[in-house]
Amino acid sequence: MSFTTFWCRVLPRFYAPFVVMSTLNLTNGGAILDDGGGYSRHSAHEIIQPHPRYWLSDGSLIVRTQGHAFKIHRTLLHRHSPVLAALSTSQEANCDSMHGCPLVYIPDERGVSSADFEALLAHLYHDTPIDSDAPFSHLAAVLRASSKEQLDFPSIHELVRRRLGKLIPSELEALLKASVEQPDEALTLAVEYDIDSIKKSLFYVLATHADLDHDEPDGMLPVPDAPVDSTPSQPRFNLSPALTRRCQALLDELVAHFTPILFTVATAHHMACTDIFAETWMPLVIQPALESSGLCRPLETLQTIIELDWAAHGLCEECVRDKREEWRGEQKAIWDRMDGWLALTVKA
Ligand SMILES: [Zn+2]
Repeated sequence: MSFTTFWCRVLPRFYAPFVVMSTLNLTNGGAILDDGGGYSRHSAHEIIQPHPRYWLSDGSLIVRTQGHAFKIHRTLLHRHSPVLAALSTSQEANCDSMHGCPLVYIPDERGVSSADFEALLAHLYHDTPIDSDAPFSHLAAVLRASSKEQLDFPSIHELVRRRLGKLIPSELEALLKASVEQPDEALTLAVEYDIDSIKKSLFYVLATHADLDHDEPDGMLPVPDAPVDSTPSQPRFNLSPALTRRCQALLDELVAHFTPILFTVATAHHMACTDIFAETWMPLVIQPALESSGLCRPLETLQTIIELDWAAHGLCEECVRDKREEWRGEQKAIWDRMDGWLALTVKA
């Protein structure tokens, strides 16, 4: 086989740029610089780096992603990934080995980034296991790389889906206590990979914290002395237009539902207790809510109302208990209605 034929086979047909692999010492300069195969006509040069972590001296397979080459263990990868096994089989039939290692090129259209592949290998080689300590960014990377669309590691994909399902609370009570990391990326992944149990929480977090526009309720006058909304400090999220529209629609439903609840002064069993609500509802509930986007965050605002020290303001014990029960019921009603607003089928 001539050098040119060799490189035509090693390099995928669609991979046009001239490739320098000198850092790998996989070839001699004569072969790569030989313009008989036409490579030198391309001016773009790309250095393919041996991966600093996963270039294992006893590796038996070289896997090339975008910009990196990984020398790893063939049987380990083939056992887990039907896609890599199939790619190896089809490419090995055409390619010579290098230093005794078959070379597999992951097609660009699979969209596998070197960073995600590294995360997958970090799990496979027990360097960064998928456990309760695994950070979200690691789980997200392994989820993508192990998916059917990318490298198809079914058992690892299922494992990381379950882990992500536990990392993000799926119940109302847990969500109210949690701080959700990177909800935009998490929602994008949950929708793309159908992690149903966490979608509702993530839609709620995004809809209520993404600083989306919403209609002001009709007939509601601004509260006197309410501070002018200064420069928004909310984080900006990176969401697709389709997901942004769904969050916007959810926020509209939440605001429409919650407006009469927030702006209607609570009543109690006893006249004296109702009088206390009449005096305090504006300063203790409405005004703080308007000052802190509380209308757009009904679950949190109801929680604040529940946790107010109503007894200290003179409400009797029985009314405090009953009203807290009622407000918890309002929270649950909102949570349950969200399934319909989002048209979600949440699996138990
Ligand atoms: Zn009372």
